[in-house]
Amino acid sequence: MELSIIGSGYVGTTIAACFAELGHDVVNVDIDEDVVASLNDGQAPIHEPGLAELVERYAGDRLRATTDYDEILDTDATFLALPTPSNDDGSIDLGTMKAAATSLGETLARKDDSHLVVTKSTVVPRTTVDVIGPRIEEASGKRVGDGFDIAMNPEFLREGTAVDDFLSPDKIVLGAQTDRAYETLAEIFAPLVERAGNPPVVKTGISEAEMIKYANNAFLASKISLANDLANICKEFGVDSAEVLESIGLDSRIGSAFLGAGLGWGGSCFPKDTAAIIAAARAQGYEPRLLQAAVDVNDGQPERMLDLLRERFDLDGKRVAVLGLAFKPGTDDIRKSRAILLIQALLDAGADVVGYDPVATENMRERFPDIDYADSAADALANADAALVATDWDEFAALDDEFDAMRERIVIDGRRIVTRREGLDYESLV
Ligand code: NAD
Repeated sequence: MELSIIGSGYVGTTIAACFAELGHDVVNVDIDEDVVASLNDGQAPIHEPGLAELVERYAGDRLRATTDYDEILDTDATFLALPTPSNDDGSIDLGTMKAAATSLGETLARKDDSHLVVTKSTVVPRTTVDVIGPRIEEASGKRVGDGFDIAMNPEFLREGTAVDDFLSPDKIVLGAQTDRAYETLAEIFAPLVERAGNPPVVKTGISEAEMIKYANNAFLASKISLANDLANICKEFGVDSAEVLESIGLDSRIGSAFLGAGLGWGGSCFPKDTAAIIAAARAQGYEPRLLQAAVDVNDGQPERMLDLLRERFDLDGKRVAVLGLAFKPGTDDIRKSRAILLIQALLDAGADVVGYDPVATENMRERFPDIDYADSAADALANADAALVATDWDEFAALDDEFDAMRERIVIDGRRIVTRREGLDYESLV
């Protein structure tokens, strides 16, 4: 099929390259000329395992990029993979979605055949029906169900394993309200269903599909927060939280995934999605107490980590290495990374910060241009008074005599990844 994808970030680029891999012809539409040029040059604009190979293989062939919305006219369906960030009060900011819906509507006004518009972005329930559909109607002069259809297909890929996640999904959720929309979606996803060995395909309503994504993320974020709450209790009693969590994870009703305790969740999804659904629930007059508690526990973990450091010395004038800047391993994404909170707090306390990450340094440099950045964990540790481990990159597990170059060998481990050794003042957050 001929597909267009508006937005070429972590989701848009990944799904475009994967749809090309599945045999579709795909055009990415983005307002960022650098992103478009990079894709057309065969280079993935983001770091994601396996993505560079797919982009290189299909660019200029089944995959191309443009800033021109008119290229949508030659496609059968458009996925909206645009950012849905938070407003200051945590509620969802639909500004980009609204602007793109209007541009898409103006474009579709010039299309004779019917078109399918699929919301891929994470949006609060009723957004596709109440906000996106009407804007396209207004700009195109067409009606939903007569000239174009709307649908919602939430994305569950994780950064760091995005390509594998997309190509081997646990489930595919198709939200639509007309048979024609379901049929087009089914056609688009048929090669994926076949390749992935028939994963469950959930046919549901548009608003249900929107809510499934929030419910999914709310559950996972809350699971991690519960693990952190339990691990914090364990620490009070001198109980090994890893043994406790590993053991409860063996219960098939609980499961071990997303049960690791530590510095908490960051990234572009859990923080904004929990905030958005909490705000949306409140706007309806419902107070989501459990979800708010999950957020509160998460917000408390970086402060607990800093307290462990403050117990050892006054931070003023100390050199502190922050190992790991990405919000999790396998990605260069630093959005809502716990490392940002640590670095800001260290700077506020007068500490001298050196950061290290295998791939996320340049992104963090934009956020904190004035701190030091090291080219290796060893360089970051050299002459540091303390190290805070913020991301569980595998290479941190292999650190050993690199710690010997520290001034004071204090290591506070937010991810339980460092191998304990003689001579270290090591403490795990949980
Ligand atoms: P992103 O910020 O990485 O990418 C968004 C892209 O949209 C950018 O390239 C930007 O230039 C482009 N853009 C902005 N305005 C535009 C416009 N008017 N027209 C065309 N392009 C425009 O965002 P992302 O991480 O890919 O997230 C997209 C959506 O997917 C969000 O709703 C997010 O919640 C959801 N989601 C993200 C993930 C993830 O792991 N990142 C996973 C599942 C769902």
